[in-house]
Amino acid sequence: MQFPPDDAALEARLLSVDPKGYEATRNHLSGSVTHLSPYLTHGFLSLGEVLQAIRTRTALTKSDKLFAEFAWRAFFQHVRRHRGKAIFESLRPPVCEQPYAEVLPSDVREGRTGIAAIDQSVSQLYRDGYLHNHARMWLASYVVHYRRVAWRVGADWMYGHLLDGDLASNHLSWQWVAGTFSSKPYIFNAGNVEKYAPASWHCRHSPLDTTYEALELLAHGQNEGLSRSFENYAMHSRPTPAGVVEPTLYAAPPRTSANAFADANAVRQATAQRSEVELVHSWGLRRKSLVPSTAKNPVFRLGVIDPKGHARFPWSAARWSFVLARMSEICDLVYLGCIEDLLNALPAGADLYSTLGAVDDDTQAALSNLNVRWLQPAPLVEEPPRYCQSFSRYFKEVGAR
Ligand SMILES: Cc1cc2nc3c(=O)[nH]c(=O)nc-3n(C[C@H](O)[C@H](O)[C@H](O)COP(=O)(O)OP(=O)(O)OC[C@H]3O[C@@H](n4cnc5c(N)ncnc54)[C@H](O)[C@@H]3O)c2cc1C
Repeated sequence: MQFPPDDAALEARLLSVDPKGYEATRNHLSGSVTHLSPYLTHGFLSLGEVLQAIRTRTALTKSDKLFAEFAWRAFFQHVRRHRGKAIFESLRPPVCEQPYAEVLPSDVREGRTGIAAIDQSVSQLYRDGYLHNHARMWLASYVVHYRRVAWRVGADWMYGHLLDGDLASNHLSWQWVAGTFSSKPYIFNAGNVEKYAPASWHCRHSPLDTTYEALELLAHGQNEGLSRSFENYAMHSRPTPAGVVEPTLYAAPPRTSANAFADANAVRQATAQRSEVELVHSWGLRRKSLVPSTAKNPVFRLGVIDPKGHARFPWSAARWSFVLARMSEICDLVYLGCIEDLLNALPAGADLYSTLGAVDDDTQAALSNLNVRWLQPAPLVEEPPRYCQSFSRYFKEVGAR
């Protein structure tokens, strides 16, 4: 699966969206899913704009499954806006009283658990930076419930390797699977994999080949025999799984990056005569600026990468390359450095703008300190006036308006 960071690829994805086919097949790994997530996460278009684009070709209403899935993304952003950094802690008590490990076992990290669905997921995650929703659920459930690893450890790991890694969707989905943001833990067995995945993913004759009752007990810490089988399976499985090498994660663009970056001095020189500057962050990579601009006085688009925001959540080289290729294409200049240092580099009195999106907290706070005016691209639905704790409440609120 390839995700070129350009408009032609996005356009092709939009043209192939098929709401009816989606509804019928979306749970299957080979189903008619949209593959829009890297473009949505990085703000090539907002959810509202994607909806408009699809509706120029085909009907898509609030009762369509695809609309509901778009709404899940909007809901997770809603929760993050209201709960802030609290989404990085369990929102409810964990389902198992015994402690969860704080380290991801190496056989999981290296995709050699011996359980095909898990090893295939890990290898695809590293290769494509993308996984189907069902594969993400299986991987998260396996890590949290069958290997008893803290959901936050798994969430941070998966986030780093995704091209579409979005802190709200990712960390809240891990919590949903873990049962700390839902009413029960999500569990699955070999039969479920067999129904939705190709033969090379099937896991009959592994510890997953058991009943939901047994797995439910395991998730609640009441099936130590099965717990040991999962732990030891990598050692005993035949043939011995080959495994994969985990790609390195980087808190700043890797040295191999072909991009040329500007420093604060270069920004000062390039923007000296400008009265309107848009600061384009990694989550707002839209081609068409939202800043109203005249032909006489076009807005200067400055890409900004502040490694501070990535120290806690580093990215794969593939994601850096995706983001930087797009940013260099749509911006006049790309700045790499501390956002605070732009304070004295940007022309005094210029109007500064930036686009709201799934921007990380540090970048958003630093841009707000520069007094940018935040621009809002078309949302999927109007934001409900109050916080909705559950998706059903959220969907009811936005559906009723
Ligand atoms: C453990 C786990 C981690 C996840 N991490 C991320 C993440 O970091 N970034 C991310 O964008 N999505 C994440 N998701 C949600 C979902 O898996 C992906 O959005 C989806 O698989 C992306 O593929 P697609 O664009 O083909 O989706 P489609 O099925 O075609 O859906 C269309 C769009 O709807 C939204 N959507 C669909 N399903 C969900 C969902 N369950 N939750 C939220 N939004 C959804 C996405 O924006 C997606 O692009 C995660 C889900 C799980 C279970």
